[in-house]
Amino acid sequence: MNCELCGKPAFEKTFVEIDGAVLLACDECSTLGSIVQEPRAESQKMRKAFIQKKPFLPSRELDEGLSLKADYGSAVRNKRQALGLTLEELAKKMFEKESVLQKIESQKLIPSEQLVAKLEKALQLSLRENSRE
Ligand SMILES: [Zn+2]
Repeated sequence: MNCELCGKPAFEKTFVEIDGAVLLACDECSTLGSIVQEPRAESQKMRKAFIQKKPFLPSRELDEGLSLKADYGSAVRNKRQALGLTLEELAKKMFEKESVLQKIESQKLIPSEQLVAKLEKALQLSLRENSRE
């Protein structure tokens, strides 16, 4: 086997990882990357498996189980006003767009589970129907 970096015979089967590629390297070249222990084929298989892993997606289960109060918009508006917050102030507090909150208050937008949780936290109120058994 020859070193895949310089072409010299590689007596020790040392595999190094350079820029994400695992190469067979001679003693000299093995210092150029980080030495990996597993044989090349296996490591490539592992890498492939890793790449094929689905990207992390937040579970939709919560969304499906989420039942918002029928009047969530006015619930948000009333609580916000009770706390003396303007839409802008609440938006800043939640790192959300004012327009998004406005749409929620006028019930033109159904907030995501995540947004509901943020609203509930920011306003200390519940926006969910207690119908979940
Ligand atoms: Zn070499």
